[in-house]
Amino acid sequence: MRLRILWILLFTGLYTIVSAQVKIRLFANKSPESAVFAVTEGKYELNLFNGEVLTVLKNEPVIITKFKGRLACKKRNSEGFICDSLIFSGKTGKDSFSLRLDGDQSVKQYYSNDLKCFPDLGTLVLINISDVEKYIAGVVMAEGGSGKHLEYFKAQAIIARTYMYKYFDKHVADRYNVCDNTHCQAFNGLSSDSLLNEAAQETHGLVILDKDSTLIISAFHSNCGGETSSSDEVWLSDQSYLKSVIDPYCVASRNASWQKSIPVNDWIAYVRKSGYHEKVDDILVFNFTQDSRLSEYKTGSFTMPLKTMRSDLNLRSTFFSVFVKGDSVILKGRGYGHGVGLCQEGAMEMARRGFNYKQIIDFYYFGVIISDIKNAVLLP
Ligand SMILES: [Zn+2]
Ligand SMILES: [Zn+2]
Repeated sequence: MRLRILWILLFTGLYTIVSAQVKIRLFANKSPESAVFAVTEGKYELNLFNGEVLTVLKNEPVIITKFKGRLACKKRNSEGFICDSLIFSGKTGKDSFSLRLDGDQSVKQYYSNDLKCFPDLGTLVLINISDVEKYIAGVVMAEGGSGKHLEYFKAQAIIARTYMYKYFDKHVADRYNVCDNTHCQAFNGLSSDSLLNEAAQETHGLVILDKDSTLIISAFHSNCGGETSSSDEVWLSDQSYLKSVIDPYCVASRNASWQKSIPVNDWIAYVRKSGYHEKVDDILVFNFTQDSRLSEYKTGSFTMPLKTMRSDLNLRSTFFSVFVKGDSVILKGRGYGHGVGLCQEGAMEMARRGFNYKQIIDFYYFGVIISDIKNAVLLP
């Protein structure tokens, strides 16, 4: 009997119960010491340690400050109190609030649902327990770029949701799921753009799965320059769905090309430092052409990974050619970003031309399935 239960547990363990809420650490890279909570919609309750319930309405801001390893809290026109932690619980089902940080890092952002606060190592920890789809719309606002098409936003919403569930346990030891900076995904609070909220709602629960029904690494970048990179070239991790794709859609977009000029002497110093030992009789030896994506810069017997050059020289992409002209070495580049997965500017153009989100995702991720998160095999 016991063994049977164990087997059932082992089997169902792969299909983790999917949460409709996400716990987000807010202002994760700011280490705030205090914050001002204010209701923007609905009604909130604070349950105090002595059994008392404090109702918080609009126009009743609450100041929360770290105080001697605990929290000091005060609502307008009420007495202040000290506690170890607190939860603001929304009571109407349509509750939202703003959080304001004052001082050098002054900022005010909007959130929905509940807020939990506790002190930790010199900072006030603020955790928003949010409806997943509202969080997704906010992530697309922060990460989606300047596109303004519903089908493009839907593709981005599915990508953001896939990423969120894939790394849902990243911060589990810290008592939340995701942080709000680029370590997880950028999230600057609720989106006021109805198109973004519509995109999240209309793709509710949808994620991208590979052929084994596991969540894909939903990589994206700003512009591929006409050809995306395969993941093994960039990360040395070979994913069947992250293959190089010729992209005709992004080549007229904002980030399709770039140029950088480097004085010849600086260039020679750089390649020497990187292991180029040959005598330089003719500086034209440094010319290099990249018509389709390569992984290495090559001149004579000298080779160097393009991704090392990209990071050393702070370049927009690895997709560039080199031309020596007079006293300068000109790098003529294409695209912006690592080039793996979905190309945002290409995807925006596809949406403009009438492709839907499925066609956009299928174009950039090879052989994937768009499905409800309930069908995903979630690996521990
Ligand atoms: Zn994080
Ligand atoms: Zn592209």
